[in-house]
Amino acid sequence: MKYISTRGGMAPQAFTDILLEGLAPDGGLAVPETLPQISADTLESWRGLSYADLAFEVLSTFATDIPADDLRRLTHAAYREGVFSTADIVPLRPLDGGLQLLGLSEGPTLAFKDMAMQFLGQVFEYVLTQRGATLNILGATSGDTGSAAEYALRGKRGVSVFMLSPHGRMSAFQRAQMYSLQDENIHNIAVRGVFDEAQDIVKSLAGDLQFKTQYRLGAVNSINWARIAAQVVYYFHGWLRATTGRGQQVSFAVPSGNFGNILSGHIARSMGLPVRRLVLATNENNVLEEFFRTGIYRPRGAEHTYATSSPSMDISRASNFERFVFDLVGRDPQRIKALWADLARDGHFDLSSLKPAFESQYGFVAGTSTHDDRLSVIRTTHEATGVLIDPHTADGVKVAREHVEPGVPMLVLETALPAKFSETIEAALGKRVEPPAPLADLESLPQRVEVMDCDAQLVRRYIEAHAKV
Ligand SMILES: *Cc1c(COP(=O)(O)O)cnc(C)c1O
Repeated sequence: MKYISTRGGMAPQAFTDILLEGLAPDGGLAVPETLPQISADTLESWRGLSYADLAFEVLSTFATDIPADDLRRLTHAAYREGVFSTADIVPLRPLDGGLQLLGLSEGPTLAFKDMAMQFLGQVFEYVLTQRGATLNILGATSGDTGSAAEYALRGKRGVSVFMLSPHGRMSAFQRAQMYSLQDENIHNIAVRGVFDEAQDIVKSLAGDLQFKTQYRLGAVNSINWARIAAQVVYYFHGWLRATTGRGQQVSFAVPSGNFGNILSGHIARSMGLPVRRLVLATNENNVLEEFFRTGIYRPRGAEHTYATSSPSMDISRASNFERFVFDLVGRDPQRIKALWADLARDGHFDLSSLKPAFESQYGFVAGTSTHDDRLSVIRTTHEATGVLIDPHTADGVKVAREHVEPGVPMLVLETALPAKFSETIEAALGKRVEPPAPLADLESLPQRVEVMDCDAQLVRRYIEAHAKV
């Protein structure tokens, strides 16, 4: 399996070659040259596999340049009890009204980012060791991604993490989660500023090519192909658990922001998994819902990106969307370049002529959920089932209910646990939710964080003094 760019300007590359890269050199995103096809017989033969063995089967179709024994070792190291809180890794639980909950948040940071990041940590260490190379991951976070990266890369050979966060602007739980890590290769830097300013520092340092090369800076952002590939696994797992025989259809509802999670569902479906609908749920930042309703993609600026009570979906420029549009326009890189040129010039592009295909060919439908919807869904789901869901998952449940069909299981992806967002849970139910028992003392652990002014020079000097060389 080789990878090409959505903009057509990259010679085909192997999985481990694109692994450590961000954007393709031509500004596009890496995608498989052709997608592997999984037959109904193969799918049936996967029933009963453990999550780690299923991950091996699915990922071996993408990472064809990693020897099978090595890959199996990596998926077993990533997806095991101890790292995840259940032997199932991804439990499936019934909700009311024909819905089921696919539990993607049993990892160390209680959000679905762990599903991909735990595999990424294993495969990064493997490739760096093989090449005798080192890497310094530089990123900025407002919560979920940074902590998932730190938990996946802590103690790994050959790699350090420098994670910027906005000082005093994350929840006490989120701060404790990141800053309590004592591993020497994890560096938390709290800058006195907001998230966008931290992000600007990352951009300016990573944009300094000389500095970037000298200190071997890398990233683990949401466009990383290995993350997308690792997420494909749980769509197969969900289908295998929710069906009993070949050809049965299942729908998935996905709380969405950067279009990474649901893109993995699109890929699973394109590989032959019998998926009926991919239900895209947004919060008040509904750029993607607008696209699926109208065919017009119009990202919004920071001033029109609202801070909501499902904050991990407060995104108005979905970084993985280009990979889906590539398929939509018949995998034509010239069309992609033209569309993104329209976007740069006009602030939008128009694919309304393809609108009929969104659902009939690709299974996509979409809907929006608001703060009031979120609170009411958390409350009614709790009353009806006793199950407590987080605000992002509630957005998924709200939109899933609008698209559920008789006889077709609807699996809502649980993208975080409620303990991470206890303020909103309290607003919905009038009572707080405690973190899982192993994390009860998290906020009283000693914390390790470097606080500094929001100044790229200070961050640069810190990296120079602490980077792996
Ligand atoms: C990242 C995240 C999302 C959005 O996922 P995308 O892949 O960006 O669409 C939804 N919910 C939670 C809790 C997240 O952390």
